[in-house]
Formats: sequence, C-alpha cells, structure tokens
Amino acid sequence: MATAKLEYLWLDGYQPTQGLRSKTKIVKNFSGKLEDCPMWSFDGSSTEQAPGGSSDCLLQPVFVCVDPQRKDGYLVMCEVLNADGSAHASNGRATILDDDNDFWFGFEQEYFLWNPETNKPLGFPAGGFPGPQGPYYCGVGASSAYGRELVEEHLDACLEAGLNVEGINAEVAAGQWEFQIFAKGAREAGDQIWVARYLIERAGEKYGISVNWHCKPLGALDWNGSGMHANFSNSLLRNAGSKEIFDKVCEAFRPLVKEHIAVYGADNHLRLTGKHETASIHDFSFGVSDRGASIRIPVGVPANGWKGYLEDRRPNSAADPYKVAARIIETVKAVKA
Ligand code: ADP
Ligand code: MN
Ligand code: MN
Ligand code: MN
Repeated sequence: MATAKLEYLWLDGYQPTQGLRSKTKIVKNFSGKLEDCPMWSFDGSSTEQAPGGSSDCLLQPVFVCVDPQRKDGYLVMCEVLNADGSAHASNGRATILDDDNDFWFGFEQEYFLWNPETNKPLGFPAGGFPGPQGPYYCGVGASSAYGRELVEEHLDACLEAGLNVEGINAEVAAGQWEFQIFAKGAREAGDQIWVARYLIERAGEKYGISVNWHCKPLGALDWNGSGMHANFSNSLLRNAGSKEIFDKVCEAFRPLVKEHIAVYGADNHLRLTGKHETASIHDFSFGVSDRGASIRIPVGVPANGWKGYLEDRRPNSAADPYKVAARIIETVKAVKA
C-alpha cells in the first residue's frame, strides 16, 4: 500500500458561520478504512475553539473517502473534541440523535460562484449588472450560464469520491448553482455536504473563483438568495398512508419557528422575505407543491397515497447541515403517531 496523504477536515469555531479547516497527515501503508485513520489534534486557539494556554483540540475521524483531486489522497471528515474527549461546543454532528439512521436527508445546496476581484458573481460585469433573472435557471449558453467548467469538474470530483450526488442545476440568479446530496442517515448526509463544499472550494482555487455561501450576497435587490432546502423523511413519513400524519408532523414545527431559524443559517431574515420563492421568516406555513411555504409537501406524496418526505425550504446555503438535521430530528421524533 502506498504512502497516503490524508486531508483532515473539520469545522472551526467562528460564529455565526463556521468555516472549513484542513491539514495534511502522511500515513504509511494506509488501508483506506475509517478505523485506520488515527486521531489527531490542532491548535484551537487559531480557530476560536480554545484559549492559547490550553490550545489543543482533538480531531476524531468520522468519514473517509478517496481524494479525487490529489495523488494518493484521502479526505477525512472529523468531529472536534475537547482535550478530555468530550464533544466541543462547536460540534453540531455530536448533537444528532439518529442512532438507527431512520432519518434520510436530501440537501439541495445552492451557492454563488464568485469573482474575488470584482467581488461580484460570475457573469456580473465589473461595474453594473447582467440582464435580469429569467434565462439563468437551468440555462445554457455563454450569455446565461457562467462557470460551468468548474461546476462540471466539481461534479466529477464528488462522484469519484463516492459522494451520493443526485443532480446539479444552474439556479435563478446569474452565477448561481445547486447540487443535491442524499443519504440514509443524518450524519452521513452532513458529512457528504461538507466534503462536497470542500471539493468545490479547492477546485475553484485553480480558476481564481471562490464560492459565496452567504444566503443573500446581492442584498435587497431583485436577485434570488441561496438556500439549502432540507428534504427529510423517517419511517413514520415513508409509511404514513394518511394526510393526517403529514399534517401532524408539519404542525409540530409551528410552535418551534425560533428554535429552527436559530440553526438555519446566518442572516436568514435577509432571504426569507416572502419574495423569491420563500416564506416570511416570521410566519409558518405548509402546503402541497407550495414553493412559497415554509415546508412544502412534494406533489408525489398525495399521489403516492400520502407516503414520502417533506421539504423544509427555510435552511440557507451557509447553514451547518449537521445542526439543521439535528433540529429537524428532534422536532419530528417528538410527534406521536
Ligand atoms: P426541488 O428543486 O424540486 O425542490 P430537488 O430534485 O432539487 O427538488 O431535490 C429533491 C431532494 O429530495 C433530492 O435531494 C432527494 O434526494 C430528496 N428526497 C427524495 N426522496 C426523499 C426521501 N424519501 N427522504 C428524504 N429526501 C428525499
Ligand atoms: Mn432543487
Ligand atoms: Mn434550488
Ligand atoms: Mn427544493
């Protein structure tokens, strides 16, 4: 077995939006298996995770895949632990209560490809704006689609890494794109989203293109913001067989708007305005096929005898999928069928 380059990834302690950090560990005779990824540590005083006097935080490997962008490379997603082995306060993954992987999640990750020099999305001229929204969503051609080369490279990288990407599409704003990742198990879905975010950021370095994960990077103009719709199901929803069960699960979210919004990503009040296919951040609503609702019941659910999943449309592009999933699971688990 070759000497391998393991890139250890973790989330820093910055608030309100945690960022990805990573560093390389060389491991001889690496098997490629999670159980053979050693624990590691880092300087938490440089990432807002520990004071300088006792700076060591631990990295607990939790997910490993091939690193398609690097010779003999692997990507190792880690949870951050305190020096005594307990979960660090910044560790959202440790708060997921889904031990039997009964919860399935499909996240739709939207984002803007960004020109760091003009500080505008790809497709925006340095001084001004491209034509208004209309032709960009699922568009084709050099006047409608911007950055496809990088998007395609990212898709190939995700597939080579074995991530369960289900699709990609160009989004409503110029320079805005989406990928979807699905997993049976909330932790796995979160792991794959974070690894996919890492892969596009690193692929972009080569092109001088960055990724803007902010939910409303163009402010209060007539340009869509970015979401990370959380599609979820558990056996209750998958086997429901009645409208009453779907209504009951949706109603369980109504009194918990504040608790959910708290982990649905920074600055979401700028995005959840009631315009641009969103519901107001202050309201709660649900409905079949309703893209202006907080939670959409996909049209396939009634068509399939009221079995399937729900789409919470409120989580934004910069949210931590671990925290989003943990909160949804807590709310849905409390429903007594
Ligand atoms: P839209 O853009 O119309 O909202 P997408 O096709 O982009 O829909 O995303 C739908 C997502 O729903 C996919 O990521 C898919 O994996 C997910 N999904 C489908 N069935 C289930 C299910 N039973 N449980 C959880 N997620 C699901
Ligand atoms: Mn979508
Ligand atoms: Mn979308
Ligand atoms: Mn959606």
